[in-house]
Amino acid sequence: MKRFHESLEKNLPMLVDTTLRDGEQTAGVVFSNREKLRIAKMLDNLGVHQIEAGIPVMGGDEKAVIKEMVSYNLQASIMAWNRANIEDIKHSIECGVDAVAISISTSDIHINHKLRTSREWVIENMTKATEFASKEGLYISVNAEDASRSDMEFLVQFAEAAKQAGANRLRFCDTIGVLEPFKTYEIISDLIGKTGMDIEMHTHNDFGMATANALAGLKAGARFLGVTVNGLGERAGNAALEEVAMALKHLFGVNLGVNTKDFRNLCEYVARASGRQLYPAKPIVGTNTFAHESGIHADGVLKHPETYEVFSPEDVGLERQIVIGKHSGSKAIKMKFVEYGIDLSDEEAADLLKAVRSVTIDLKRTLFDKELMYIYEDYLYEKKLAPSGAESES
Ligand code: MN
Repeated sequence: MKRFHESLEKNLPMLVDTTLRDGEQTAGVVFSNREKLRIAKMLDNLGVHQIEAGIPVMGGDEKAVIKEMVSYNLQASIMAWNRANIEDIKHSIECGVDAVAISISTSDIHINHKLRTSREWVIENMTKATEFASKEGLYISVNAEDASRSDMEFLVQFAEAAKQAGANRLRFCDTIGVLEPFKTYEIISDLIGKTGMDIEMHTHNDFGMATANALAGLKAGARFLGVTVNGLGERAGNAALEEVAMALKHLFGVNLGVNTKDFRNLCEYVARASGRQLYPAKPIVGTNTFAHESGIHADGVLKHPETYEVFSPEDVGLERQIVIGKHSGSKAIKMKFVEYGIDLSDEEAADLLKAVRSVTIDLKRTLFDKELMYIYEDYLYEKKLAPSGAESES
């Protein structure tokens, strides 16, 4: 947990990865023990600051895996998730974690319809659990579940009580993903202004805004960003680790020293472990993010990659691909043949382009390298049959 404490002291933004907790809570996702431990190691190597490892009160494998993870003495802090009760926290302590999340709902809709209790009860139970964890010397994130739909006055009261009880930060949960970046900025600025508390953003992607909301929170002063690999998580998922980290680096100029080159590897591993394919257009790590087909784009990228790429594919463990398809131009075709050791003339490239267009439209897809070679062979054969400019003898 060295990395975590260093960043804490330096007041730097931090990545809190919950792939192993919120990510695994996704309907239909279960990680094996081995996978959980492997993912934890990968997250640590990548440079994540805190790993939310799971829910110790579940017992059995869940608890054993967290214990094992703690024994690795990673650079990242290991956090366990708890409901706001002392029993849950006792299980976390048995695992040896250095940090706990203590979670309870703060919105009236959750308090009235899920917990079927009162605001007073919520504050009382959060306080008892937090005081207990604080006496045990744990780092504490008090989670305000459904914070985004909570009454602001009550949320401030809740945060103050949490601080009083020994909480180190407040996790602001947009549990059902109803925020948008402008509103997020307003709410988080207001909350920090009123409580002075360290805030962690925990955002969900129901409207496709999880990453944007996490970053809006950061801009408003939140220091901890809750993320998951591939954005795995309940329903539409959470803010994606790879998106948040790369946006921080390239759009906000905040370099957290993350080993971004490992992203594709990690994302592929988690995709397999969670049984969810990495779709080709997945921001940052999808195979399509560095594939160029259109003539203008391919030409630009071949001349100077920055024309159509924000960062290099190698930066995230990918490779650039020039794809030959309907929208390819003759320059890309020439370049492709150079790879095969064939130097096409401008005329040949132009002729092949026509053939490529017609074949890709028939097939409704881009071409494999072999198919491109077949087109070339056919072209040479036809050319031999009717050499250009030759007089036919009758
Ligand atoms: Mn969540």
